[in-house]
Amino acid sequence: MARAFVALGGNIGDRAAYLNQALLALRQAGNRIVAVSDFYESAPVGGRAQRPFWNAVAAIETTRGPRALLRQLQGIEFALGRRRDGARGGPRTIDLDLLAYGQVRMRTRELTLPHPRLCTRRFVLLPLRDLRALPPAAGQPPGQCLAHPALRGQRLRRLGGGSGHAEDSQNRPQ
Ligand code: ADP
Ligand code: MG
Repeated sequence: MARAFVALGGNIGDRAAYLNQALLALRQAGNRIVAVSDFYESAPVGGRAQRPFWNAVAAIETTRGPRALLRQLQGIEFALGRRRDGARGGPRTIDLDLLAYGQVRMRTRELTLPHPRLCTRRFVLLPLRDLRALPPAAGQPPGQCLAHPALRGQRLRRLGGGSGHAEDSQNRPQ
């Protein structure tokens, strides 16, 4: 078993429902959901005019390797209506990114671990902080990561709602 962190986000349709369905699908695919952050609403990064995203991060235990887990995440995205036809960074029902997989560091065309933009996205860092976790983000300690200049101006609003989805509430931070 390995511990992995998955970022979830989407801005089409019922955003809470997509987050919840993705969490359910992760579990049905055989992963254990250890804890789920609160949900957040974030202004889209990248300047493209689109609806705000809802985001969360889940800590999971998985028996799959990193590549197989990524393919599983992509399968869940597809099942939940994600289509990769538009330009990158556009609206999507659900985006599932693998933030970290244990201590694994790798860089292939298919998969980079830890996620290369982990440290520059407030909508990933604050949910991770809910989980009292910071994966080895580019070797930066958490404080340094949270002071990253790219985070300035990224608007984020806490919506709550995460604790009810944790399979094992004893692992939830208080
Ligand atoms: P983004 O998440 O950047 O908005 P996509 O979800 O379309 O865009 O992902 C683009 C590509 O990023 C995928 O084809 C995937 O192979 C690659 N990728 C590389 N590293 C990761 C990672 N850690 N998590 C998720 N996707 C990754
Ligand atoms: Mg993605």
